[in-house]
Amino acid sequence: MARPHAVVVPYPGSGNINPALQLAQLLRRGGVFITFVVTEHNLRRAEAAAGGGDGAVTAGAREGFRIETIPDGLLDADRGAQDYDLGLSRATVHHGAAPLRDLVARLRVGGGDVPPVTCVLPTALMSFALEVARDLGVPSMVLWGGSAAALMGHMRLRELKERGYLPLKDESSLTNGYLEKTIIDWIPGMPPISLGDVSSFVRTTDPDDFGLWFNITEANNCTKAGALIINTFDALEPDVLAALRAEYPRIYTVGPLGTLLRHRHDGDGDEDAGGGDSDSIDLSLWKHDTECLAWLDAQDPGSVVYANFGSLTVLTAAQLAEFAWGLAATSRPFLWVVREDLVPGAVGGPAALPPAFLAGTAARGRLATWCPQERVLRHPAVGCFVTHNGWNSTCEGLAAGVPMVCWPVFADQFTICKYACEVWGVGLRLDAEVRREQVAGHVDGVMESEGIRRSAARWKAEAEATAGRGGSSHENLLSLVKALGVSSRSTPSPRHERSGISFVGLI
Ligand code: UDP
Repeated sequence: MARPHAVVVPYPGSGNINPALQLAQLLRRGGVFITFVVTEHNLRRAEAAAGGGDGAVTAGAREGFRIETIPDGLLDADRGAQDYDLGLSRATVHHGAAPLRDLVARLRVGGGDVPPVTCVLPTALMSFALEVARDLGVPSMVLWGGSAAALMGHMRLRELKERGYLPLKDESSLTNGYLEKTIIDWIPGMPPISLGDVSSFVRTTDPDDFGLWFNITEANNCTKAGALIINTFDALEPDVLAALRAEYPRIYTVGPLGTLLRHRHDGDGDEDAGGGDSDSIDLSLWKHDTECLAWLDAQDPGSVVYANFGSLTVLTAAQLAEFAWGLAATSRPFLWVVREDLVPGAVGGPAALPPAFLAGTAARGRLATWCPQERVLRHPAVGCFVTHNGWNSTCEGLAAGVPMVCWPVFADQFTICKYACEVWGVGLRLDAEVRREQVAGHVDGVMESEGIRRSAARWKAEAEATAGRGGSSHENLLSLVKALGVSSRSTPSPRHERSGISFVGLI
């Protein structure tokens, strides 16, 4: 039988490219041939970040792993826009299908060293790829890039609309406490949650709001795939996973992907492949500052505050200054990643910080514009993570056992923050209006709290266990690899499947 061949199509941002790449590498280790589809713009960025000019990334491609490109449809003039992410969503949803269809049609029959395509595997926000797969008669699976609770919450945005919660009645609802005081207690598998914590996309008075429409559509379209893959693990979200599985049984929980990737399950025991996995493939859109790891080596265990707001969050200059003075007030060593575009319109990177802050903290602060985050979080010197609660960051922080100070901004980050602080007990939440005193107080609070540190250590142990031999994520990954490679009749089920629907039968 020909080798299975998955065409992996991530939404073109780091929050989806990174987990898709981790999943692709795990599948490749399991014997699946991978075509990884990136946008032309992102490949250029990755080549530049890799520092080798054109071909730096593609030259690093491995046996059984190839990279293809499609255009993202965005005008260069729109790349610096405030709402860049929504602009990118609009462009991909309108312009992504045609080039992807041509690509999959070309690869479908295979040829040379490339086996015929057996599965199209997009991430969330790319459901046009599921239609392409259906049109071409190729099976599909989808990787949801957030937590299971975030998926359930986004799936219920439609019902929030039907029940009259959305759109908001008037602008005052945005600021008068309505979003906090309105409690939604009927989302299956989820604890009572304030309306504002279900998603950032509830913050609209426009019945035709694109962000709301797009997220309702995309979350619900995930269930059109033959199977759903989630970067979470069963012990972390048991209630909401049970509720999701009751509605949609073919769910593979295979997280934390980074932890699975670090483990090797060959020979007699698990081997930790460490940070320098020899066959790892890097498609970072920014150049990593790896020297910060040497700086961390020189710090005391558990002493460093690590602050990073991910790839998309933007701050005002005033918010940046509050975080800066909050970090200064802790008197602790810190590593802070200030992206070139963290404050739009300002001079880029650390130069956007107040000069007096830079001068006053030079001896104990290390600044960078991008870093190898998973390795940073796993470094023993790191004792606190100031985060925007993007799912990858949160999952990486949980897997590393690092207490968090949470400042959610966009999309599902509010739901994830709620779980981090109230369900998993690993963090403290900052108010939306950042104040330096609270930043300093919460950093001290999480680093000095026995209870939070104990919870963080517990989730680290759980993450290791689920990724190890016999752990649920490890077993589900094995089932997933088999499902990609065998015929519909004998498709292995994810552990908790409750129906006999076959993966190939659902294309
Ligand atoms: N990341 C990184 N270095 C950085 C900042 C982020 O490698 O300096 C990675 C991080 O490890 C994660 C991804 O970028 O895998 C960010 O995804 P997340 O879901 O946390 O947030 P988003 O960027 O989508 O808001």
